[in-house]
This record gives sequence, C-alpha cells and structure tokens, in this order.
Amino acid sequence: MAEVIDGKLIAEDVVGKVKLATAELVSETGVVPGLAVVIVGEDPASQVYVASKGRKAEDCGFHSVQHTLDAATSEDELVALVESLNADPAIHGILVQLPLPKHVDAARIIQTISPDKDVDGFHFINVGKLGTGEVETAFVPCTPAGAMIMIERVHGRDLSGLNAVVVGRSNIVGKPMANLLLAANATVTIAHSRTKDLPALGRTADILVAAVGRPQMVKGDWVKPGATVIDVGINRIPAPEKGEGKTRLVGDVDYVEAAKVAGAITPVPGGVGPMTIAMLMANTLKSAYRAAGRVAPR
Ligand code: NDP
Repeated sequence: MAEVIDGKLIAEDVVGKVKLATAELVSETGVVPGLAVVIVGEDPASQVYVASKGRKAEDCGFHSVQHTLDAATSEDELVALVESLNADPAIHGILVQLPLPKHVDAARIIQTISPDKDVDGFHFINVGKLGTGEVETAFVPCTPAGAMIMIERVHGRDLSGLNAVVVGRSNIVGKPMANLLLAANATVTIAHSRTKDLPALGRTADILVAAVGRPQMVKGDWVKPGATVIDVGINRIPAPEKGEGKTRLVGDVDYVEAAKVAGAITPVPGGVGPMTIAMLMANTLKSAYRAAGRVAPR
C-alpha cells in the first residue's frame, strides 16, 4: 500500500514555521503581516473559506481584515476598495474571494491588485514570473504551491529525471503546477479534456497530479507502480451509505484503487486542501518580509 502524504500534518508544519517567522519579524522590525480578504455576496461556500482564512491569519499572528460587500456592489466600487488596500501599508496580502457576481469583471479586479500584494498569484506579473522560472520572486498560486511542498517531501527539491503528468490545465491549478514541476527539473506533460488515451499517459508518470474536477476519474490502472499521486480534486458526491441525502468528499482519483499501486498518495479530504490555506499564510508572510526589506525563511 502507498504511503499516505498527510496534508494536515504538513500544513501544520508550514503554519508553525509561519508563526515563528512572524514573531521574529514583529520583534525585529515591528512589521506585522497584514492580510485583507474581500468577499462579495453571500455564497455560503465562499463565506466558509473566507472565515477560515481569517481565523488562520489571526492564528499566525497576522493583522487580519475582512471586507464583506453586498452582492450588488459595483465593479468600480470594488476597484476602489482594492486600490485603497494596495495603498495601505498595514496590508501585505490582498485576496479577493472568487467567484465574483456576474456583473463584475473578475479579471479586471484581479489585475487591479498590486502584484506585490497578490498572494493568490493570479496577477499577470506573477503568472509571468512563474512562467519564466522566477519562482522565488513570484507569488505562486496557493494550491499548486502546496502540492509542490508535498511532492518535495517525497522526492526532494530536484525532480531531475522524473516524468510528471498534470491532468488539468486551469490557470489556478494545472498550468502553475506544471510550471513548478518544470522549474524543479521534472519532464512535464499537461493533459486535458482533449488528450488521447489518458490511462496510458498516466502510466508514464512518476508524479501524477489530478486537477480535473471529476470525481474518482483517475483509476488504479492509470498509475505507474510506485508513482506519487497528488489529488487536487474536491468533489462532493452522494453517500447513501451515510443516510438519505448525505454526501461525502472525494478527489479526482479513485483513492482505494490508486493506493494499491502508488508509492505515495494524498487523501481527500486531508490532502492538498489544508495545504492551500497554509500557503496563503506563507505568501502573506513572504510579502511582509519583502516590505521590511528582508527575505522570508522558507
Ligand atoms: P477547472 O474546471 O478550471 O479545470 C479542469 C481541467 O480539467 C480543465 O483543464 C479540463 O480540460 C480538464 N478536464 C475536465 N474533464 C476532463 C477529462 N474528462 N479528461 C481530462 N481532462 C479533463 O478546475 P480547477 O483546476 O479549478 O480545479 C480542479 C479540481 O481541483 C476541482 O475538483 C476543484 O474543486 C479542485 N480544487 C481544489 C483546491 C484545493 O484547495 N485543494 C483549490 C482549487 C481547485 P479543458 O481545459 O480541456 O476543459
């Protein structure tokens, strides 16, 4: 059976280091890392995410601010808020929770965030840095950054000679994941809905990352024996065995089958999910260190 890569444990380790580095920054420079989270509307899932990001920021010793705006807020009002946060020296990270209401152009809002405070890593400047291999100076999107730390725990930082297959090419997960793997010297293939014979491609992977959004799509016979399988997917499916109307979370990988073949695998829940929020804290810390003219410890 595969080794289980415990995202909760690794995330706790990352957050523990962020706390220590925050205390050091505050005592030596007086700079307190500040994270502003902006939420527009009342999407219940977004509210849960935003609340947990705020709690984690406080737990890390950050200055944490939440702006909750009415669903009818105009695009110009939102731009004005982001611009005021860009100018606020107490704020080092700005996160605008997606999705935004349909009348707001999310791309315009994201590109309004200062690249220096773009802790989600979605601004073109940060996308461009990652794409050109400037990984250390870029803000890297939190989910692939967290997945990368999990991969490092298994393989170390240099992935020379290893084949990686990323299934999914979104801007939030698939593409930045592929760029991170490439920067670590893996030989990378990106697969998507138009790719032929995914099972055969999957079997070439020493590192197989699934970021598709299709419950349990990646089967055991897609996995090369001994491979590392990173399951980014979070899907809610019916769970009649738990009672009528009940649901459960599963990934994009058929965990039971894949765990029989893989060398190491992330579970869902408790895998990549907890790493995402931990990396948001790490990115905010990195920004605050930069504002103080220092380099954050890794
Ligand atoms: P998107 O829907 O933006 O992208 C999905 C990708 O999967 C697309 O590139 C799509 O291909 C590809 N795809 C869809 N169907 C197939 C198929 N049958 N075969 C091969 N490829 C396919 O999703 P995200 O990248 O935003 O998210 C992916 C998953 O990760 C979701 O389950 C999401 O919930 C989860 N997620 C988890 C996070 C976490 O914190 N752990 C954070 C963000 C996402 P094409 O481009 O051709 O359409």
